[in-house]
Amino acid sequence: MTTQRNREAALRHQDAARGAHRGAPWRPAPALLASAALHVAAVPTLIAAPGAWGPVLAALAANHLALGLLGLAPGGGWIGPSLTRLPPAATGMVALTFDDGPDPEVTPRVLEILDRYGARASFFCIGHRAALYPDLVRRIAACGHSVENHSHWHGGAFAARPPWRIRRELVQAQAVLTAITGRAPHFIRAPFGIRGPMLDPALAGTGLRHAGWTRRGRDTVCGVPATVLARLTSALRSGDILMLHDGGSARTATGEPVVLAVLPALLDTIRAAGLRATSLPEAMDAAMDAPSAQAVRSPAAPSAAWAAASRATGTR
Ligand SMILES: [Zn+2]
Repeated sequence: MTTQRNREAALRHQDAARGAHRGAPWRPAPALLASAALHVAAVPTLIAAPGAWGPVLAALAANHLALGLLGLAPGGGWIGPSLTRLPPAATGMVALTFDDGPDPEVTPRVLEILDRYGARASFFCIGHRAALYPDLVRRIAACGHSVENHSHWHGGAFAARPPWRIRRELVQAQAVLTAITGRAPHFIRAPFGIRGPMLDPALAGTGLRHAGWTRRGRDTVCGVPATVLARLTSALRSGDILMLHDGGSARTATGEPVVLAVLPALLDTIRAAGLRATSLPEAMDAAMDAPSAQAVRSPAAPSAAWAAASRATGTR
C-alpha cells in the first residue's frame, strides 16, 4: 500500500515537473547557435563577394557534417540536452532500457526474466508497434516498468527531418502510448540512437526529455552473448544507463534472441556489484527524493529539484 502511495506521489511529482518544464523557453545548444550564425553570415558574404560561393558552400557542408557526427555521439548531447547517466543522487542504481518493441515473441520473455529478478526497466516502444500489440504494452506497464517514446515509425530518415515533422511523429507516438497505458511517456530516444540537430527544437515545450545511454550492447547486430554482456558490464557502475533491444534482437548461434541469453547474466552481474536495475522514472524519483535534491525543492518548483538531481556529469 505504501509502495503504491509512493508510486502515485512520484508520478504526481513527475507530472508537475513536466508541466513546469513545458513552459520553459527553448535554449539552443551552442553547436546549434554556431550553425545558425554560420548560415546567417553566409548571406551577406555571398552578397559582398558572389565569387566566394565555393568556400561558403564548403563551410556549410562541413557544418552539416559536423552536426551529423555530433548526433552520433551517445545521446548526441552536444546538439541538445540528453540524459546519458543517472544523476549521482540515484545511488546504487543502473537503468535498464529496451528499444524497438513491443515484440510478441521477445517482450513477454524479457518481462518474465525481469520479474524473476525483481528488476525494473524502461521500454522505449515504437508507436505503431504499440498500436499492434496494446495488451503487451499494458502488460509492460502493469509489471511496474515505464513505457517511453521511441517515435511512431522508427524510420531511417527521422534524424534528417525538419522539426515540425519530428514533432508530429513524436506527438503521434505519445498519443498512442498514453491512450494504451494511461500514462504519458516522460522520455524519448531517437530512432537508431541518432538525433539530428532538429530534435531539440522539436522537443521544445513538450516536456519530453531525450534519453541517451552510457553503454549499449549492440544486440541488434551481435549475436554473441558474451560480447554483448561484456560491452554492457565492462566498468559497470552506479548511474549507468544500459541500452538493449526487445525488438529486432540479433540471434545467437542456436537461434535464440541474444537479449534473452544476455539478460539473466546481466542481472546477475548488476546484483553481484551491489547495484539495482531500475526504470528511468524510478531512478529520477529516487534522485529527486535524495537529500541533495530535497534541499532545493519547493512545492512551487518541482522542476528545480529534478534539475538539481540531474546536474550530473552525464547530463549535457
Ligand atoms: Zn530503435
